[in-house]
Amino acid sequence: MTQDWGKRTKLVHQGARRSQYGEVAEAIYLTQGFVYPTAEAAEARFLAAQADEFIYARYGNPTVAAFEERIAALEGTEDAFATASGMAAVSGALTSMLRAGDHVVSSRALFGSCLYILEEVLTRYGVEVTFVDGTDMEQWKSALRPGTKAVFLETMSNPTLEVIDLGAVASLAHDAGALVVVDNVFATPVFSRAVELGADVIVYSATKHIDGQGRALGGVICGTRDFIRGTVEPYMKHTGGALSPFNAWIMLNGLTTLDLRVRAQAANAQAIAEAFTSDPRLTRVIYPGLPSHPQHMVARAQMDGFGTVLALDIKAGKEAAFRFLNALQIVVISNNLGDARSIATHPATTTHQRLPDDQKAALGITPGLIRLSVGLEDVTDLIADIRAGLDMI
Ligand SMILES: *Cc1c(COP(=O)(O)O)cnc(C)c1O
Repeated sequence: MTQDWGKRTKLVHQGARRSQYGEVAEAIYLTQGFVYPTAEAAEARFLAAQADEFIYARYGNPTVAAFEERIAALEGTEDAFATASGMAAVSGALTSMLRAGDHVVSSRALFGSCLYILEEVLTRYGVEVTFVDGTDMEQWKSALRPGTKAVFLETMSNPTLEVIDLGAVASLAHDAGALVVVDNVFATPVFSRAVELGADVIVYSATKHIDGQGRALGGVICGTRDFIRGTVEPYMKHTGGALSPFNAWIMLNGLTTLDLRVRAQAANAQAIAEAFTSDPRLTRVIYPGLPSHPQHMVARAQMDGFGTVLALDIKAGKEAAFRFLNALQIVVISNNLGDARSIATHPATTTHQRLPDDQKAALGITPGLIRLSVGLEDVTDLIADIRAGLDMI
């Protein structure tokens, strides 16, 4: 397949494999294993499988391989490994490369399960983890030391949408000899320029924008061929976090429309952010596409768009936030993001419920904060729905 194709062409065609039947849509190879024509062929494949030679679905599968090839082409990495969920991707990327005695520096503002991996799991096995405020380059600088093995960050944090200067972190990390691992869900594969900015390993929860229709769990680790096939694959294939062929097929079809969906959702998010930015019932509207966002310039320089998620902080607190949520007619209350449906979340009582109050405060998770994942509906309807919700507080 050619590397000269534009992103949208890759999203439709890259990685497609056709069987002898010449099917138009990608086939779902819903098979656990593969038949070898001869005993000699089986021996040869176990010794060194060639491209498109498969052994067992935990190691690889044609539908999964098509998804891996398509997302790697989009992200601009040499290779990718698909996983059963976003968390299988985050934990697989980190645990496959780390061992007892290694040191990792991580941004503190992380998705709850990512924080658990870094704070609870890695440390249990003797990895030392230093947490920093990801937007403060001085903290990265003083935490990094020669021999630091990896840095970990979410390029845009959840739910308060802090944008980390990836290029600056990558250059500090590389000076120390550390690999840069980014969880890039909020930036999305459409707006990401992570490779160009120095990321070595890019992880996505495909459950979010890549599916985009709230159907299936999936994840992917993108990186160099050496890292993916030499470090990630041996770990993943023996620990069992493989993506199912059926879910890979859902993700492949998600990729086909990813660019159109994410751009339309981001345009809706921008319009909603602008519509409510001076609403007196809100203490703040957080969206990296607003010039008032503290890292607006960083976001502008490092992404091709500002994402599909925004946050509204309702001045009157939790009860008012609940009245707002309960009044919504179009936006649903749930905790996914990147979906075609607009989704509202109250982080303080759901996704971040278990954080102690001082940590919630430190991360800006106030009692009135609402995270809004903006979907594909007509933006005038969304604005009217949100306005009606605010009128009920
Ligand atoms: C959702 C999410 C994950 C986990 O993905 P799953 O597919 O739910 O396992 C990890 N990181 C971020 C930033 C996410 O939003």
